[in-house]
Amino acid sequence: MSNENTGAVPEIRVSGLHKAFGDNQVLRGIDLEIGAGEVVCVIGPSGSGKSTLLRCVNLLEEPTAGQVFVGGTEVTDPDVDIDAVRRRIGMVFQQFNLFPHLTVTDNLTLPQRRVLGRGKEEAAEVAAENLRRVGLSEKAAAYPGSLSGGQQQRVAIARALAMGPEVMLFDEPTSALDPELVGDVLAVMRMLADEGMTMMVVTHEMSFAREVADRVVFMDGGVVVEEGAPAQVIGAPTHDRTRHFLSRLL
Ligand code: ADP
Ligand code: MG
Repeated sequence: MSNENTGAVPEIRVSGLHKAFGDNQVLRGIDLEIGAGEVVCVIGPSGSGKSTLLRCVNLLEEPTAGQVFVGGTEVTDPDVDIDAVRRRIGMVFQQFNLFPHLTVTDNLTLPQRRVLGRGKEEAAEVAAENLRRVGLSEKAAAYPGSLSGGQQQRVAIARALAMGPEVMLFDEPTSALDPELVGDVLAVMRMLADEGMTMMVVTHEMSFAREVADRVVFMDGGVVVEEGAPAQVIGAPTHDRTRHFLSRLL
C-alpha cells in the first residue's frame, strides 16, 4: 500500500538522516517514508547501517542530523516525550532479550505493568491473547530456557505486541535461529503484515521480502541505493551494488 494514494501522513518518515560514531559516518543522508499498514524490508550488506537506521527511528541512537517522524510526531524534536514515543513502537532484535528468571507470561506482563501501568488482571489477559496470536498459549507458564530459539523469538514478538504498538521494527529477527525454526517466526510476521501492522524489517530472508514486503529498500554504505517493489529490487535490480549483494546471498 502506498501512502501516495491516500495522502495520509506516513507512519514513519525519515528525512536527511545522518549518524556518525566519531569519524565513522554510518548514515549519510537517508530519506524514507513508510505508510500506515505498509511492510518495508531493509536489505544490505553487514555494516551498511541497517541496525543504526532502525535504532534511530526509536531513538536508541541519537541522529547526528536530520529528522525522524513517527505517526506525525517528530521524535528528533529535543522536547519530545521519548518514553511516549517508544510506547508506540515495538522492537524485536536478533537476540530475544527475554528475562530468564521470569515465566513467559511474566515476561509479557512486566513491561505492561511497569511502562503502561496496567493492572495485574488486564496485563495477564493481554498476555494470554498475544501468546495465542503467536501460537504459544501452552507455554505461558514455561521459562524461556526451556523453549526453542524460535519459540523464544515468538514470545519476544508477543511481548512487543502486548504493548499495543502502532509500528513494529524487526532487526534480523531470524538470524540467530536454526534454519528449521525460521519458518514459524516468519509465519507470525506474515500474520502481522496481513493484519495491517506497519512494519520495518531488516532481514536476509529474501523469500519473505519477496512475498510479504510492499517495498524493499537496499542500503549500502549508509545510503539507500535502490528501493521499490520486491519484484523490481530483488528480481530485477538496476544497480550493480544491489546485483552484487544479491548474487552473494543466493
Ligand atoms: P548493519 O546493521 O547494516 O550491519 P550497523 O548499523 O550495525 O550495520 O553498523 C554500521 C556501522 O556503524 C558499523 O561500522 C559499526 O561498526 C558502526 N556502529 C554501529 N553501532 C555503533 C556504536 N554504538 N558505536 C560505534 N560504532 C557503531
Ligand atoms: Mg545489523
